[in-house]
Amino acid sequence: MRVRFAPSPTGLLHVGGARAALYNWLMARGSGGEFLLRIEDTDRERSTPENIEQILDALRWLGLDWDGEPVLQTTHEERHRAVVQTLLDEDKAYRSTATAEDVKAFKAEHGADRGFRGGDHPTRVSAEDAARGVGAVRLRVPEGETVVRDLVRGDTTFKNVHLDDPVVARADGSPLYNLAVAIDDLDAGITHVVRGEDHLSNTPKQLLVLQAMGAEAPLYAHLPLLHGPDGKKLSKRHGAASVQELRDAGYLPDAVVNYLALLGWGDVDDETEIPRDELVKRFDIARVSKNPARFDEQKLRWLNGRYLRAQGLDALVAAVQGHLIEAGHGHMVAGKEDLLRTAVEISQEKITTVDEFWPLAGFLFTGPADDLQAREKWLDEPHREHLAAVRETLAGVDPFDTEHVDAALRALVGERGVKAKDVFQPLRVALAGRAISPGVFESAAALGREETLRRVDLALEG
Ligand code: GLU
Repeated sequence: MRVRFAPSPTGLLHVGGARAALYNWLMARGSGGEFLLRIEDTDRERSTPENIEQILDALRWLGLDWDGEPVLQTTHEERHRAVVQTLLDEDKAYRSTATAEDVKAFKAEHGADRGFRGGDHPTRVSAEDAARGVGAVRLRVPEGETVVRDLVRGDTTFKNVHLDDPVVARADGSPLYNLAVAIDDLDAGITHVVRGEDHLSNTPKQLLVLQAMGAEAPLYAHLPLLHGPDGKKLSKRHGAASVQELRDAGYLPDAVVNYLALLGWGDVDDETEIPRDELVKRFDIARVSKNPARFDEQKLRWLNGRYLRAQGLDALVAAVQGHLIEAGHGHMVAGKEDLLRTAVEISQEKITTVDEFWPLAGFLFTGPADDLQAREKWLDEPHREHLAAVRETLAGVDPFDTEHVDAALRALVGERGVKAKDVFQPLRVALAGRAISPGVFESAAALGREETLRRVDLALEG
């Protein structure tokens, strides 16, 4: 098996593209085959080195390694031109000046579902003019049918009579997209073309090129579109829609790979966490549903949380630290490795991406946040009175660890005969400056007695 991912490097790698890349990769790795990368850079303005690097970078981050060097489609242009010439020489293609208007007029005359045939049409260029490079090159569509053999959708049969003779090269001989793709897949020995459903209408044209070349067609798998949770085509409105955004939001590549692999994959509804090596073993393109798949970032978030915790504390600390450095908070935690470890440990149940760590636990490093609403609610007169009692209690807790803080404060709640939250929330707001934080006993223990009392004093004064 030999497959390829063939992105047009026009910017970020969309999650739909990432899914296509992943499915190709899983097929190759699961079969001992090869996964090639072809950069379709024919739009030269948009195919900048930066855009190409963005795609490679996103693939590397996902851990989708490719075989051999990435190839640039434009480097094959001579070959494409040579094929066009051969097709012309063999009269499988012809030059024509037919415009969209001419095609329309042809249909008006022959019936709307009759494909344009330009071989005997007045717009067919004379041999002399053809030799001078007049007219675009159109492929002759033969009689019969064109069958797309698709592992996801089954066979789709196109009756050739409905297909227009496709333009395969411009008047200057430069190849058009469908010709280039067909030749490149053939030359690379691609056995399975796995790509988005948006390419389905291109496939008969590519098959016709291969047929004209006397070549065998690969098998196809057209992946259904991705929708957002609202059933509409996935876009930025739904949140992170590219691999780069997912990375910046603090997702782990393994979780993203796991989630994308399961998207629209028929029979694994009850399963969520499947490690990469097992995905490689079990992935089966034939099980991909042909219905649109729903990309739900909430589910990904949930799955990511599981991956975060499953990797163990050391790895999680390293991931958080790496993310903080990237986000420009590195200096805030520098030299505070022990506190960082503790902070991650007490936050891990509450975060689903590494990006959520700092908003939750940053106060341990930088001081309380300034959430006015939380202060008004939990540091009003009656709560301050409880907080003063908390201060007194905490001053005597020894050793000052989670367990002892916990026991002392619970005893205080009992003594005062109040609701636990009326004692714990004021302390939380004193320490964190907001009503959400890791466990309040854990947070106090992480800060230590001195800093805890200092923050409580500030809250009592304020
Ligand atoms: N270059 C095309 C794209 O980025 C993919 C072509 C293909 O996979 O055949 O949409």
